[in-house]
Amino acid sequence: MCQVCFGVDVGGTTVKLGLVTQDGELLEKQEFVSAHDVGEMFDNIAAHMKEVMGHFSDYQCVGAGVGVPGPVVEERLVHGCANLGWGDVDVAGELGRRTGLPVKVANDANLAAMGEMWQGAGRGCRDLVLLTVGTGVGGGLITGGRMITGATGGGGEVGHIPTSFHPDWQCGCGKYGCLEATASASGIIRAARQFSPFKEQERVTAKDVFDAAKDGDQNALRVVTEAGHALGHCAAILTCVLNPEIILIGGGVSAAGRMLMEPVEETFRLEAFGPSSHIPFARAQLGNDAGILGGAAMFFCE
Ligand SMILES: [Zn+2]
Repeated sequence: MCQVCFGVDVGGTTVKLGLVTQDGELLEKQEFVSAHDVGEMFDNIAAHMKEVMGHFSDYQCVGAGVGVPGPVVEERLVHGCANLGWGDVDVAGELGRRTGLPVKVANDANLAAMGEMWQGAGRGCRDLVLLTVGTGVGGGLITGGRMITGATGGGGEVGHIPTSFHPDWQCGCGKYGCLEATASASGIIRAARQFSPFKEQERVTAKDVFDAAKDGDQNALRVVTEAGHALGHCAAILTCVLNPEIILIGGGVSAAGRMLMEPVEETFRLEAFGPSSHIPFARAQLGNDAGILGGAAMFFCE
């Protein structure tokens, strides 16, 4: 009998879940609006899982791997998650009780890295770094095929590595000079707003800045280049610690393409420790499905 597993990606606005085979095929995917109430959230997830499973009754479901946007301990507990408005929640207990399935839980950025290792751009690797550059900067660190979660679930929070790029800019975490304050979409917008025409515009997106840089706006190009240098610098730091086989860059900001990747690699090659300075960079491949496949990888990619 073919084994399948649920991958569940719980976000602040939507929940994405999918049923995945042991070979990594995504059989069916559903997306629905996140509930504010914890009990209602898990009732909804369990109901959607039951509905999907009804379409694949010939398969044996071995469990559910769940990603949440916060620190997770013991593959089950969340102690506070600002994006979801949660306090202490036993995610594995809540969902396990409702479905009768074994449930494993992880931070969503770590799970995305697991997904990329299993079925995406990191296929075949056991040691990799994923930098997810979007509204913020997230990361997933995998060493020897296992996620680095740390003692209290805070492992892999690469967006909060202190840098000297904008030491007086406050990050969402409250500290100053974090990688995220320079290299995220929000950081890029903040930097671009120092210059015309962005200074005068009511609404600026990171894409506006990339487009202007492509059209030859030197200030916009400098802003994107600086974000790249900051990412390359932090990738070099991570490489000294982890010595990965590959570094993956994902998230909305990675759509900037060569304009961003060239300064990332330039700084990395300059700063990374010798034995690691040659390792390749690649764009993450799984996009919005990375969390679902990462959830399944917690069961199938041992
Ligand atoms: Zn921070």
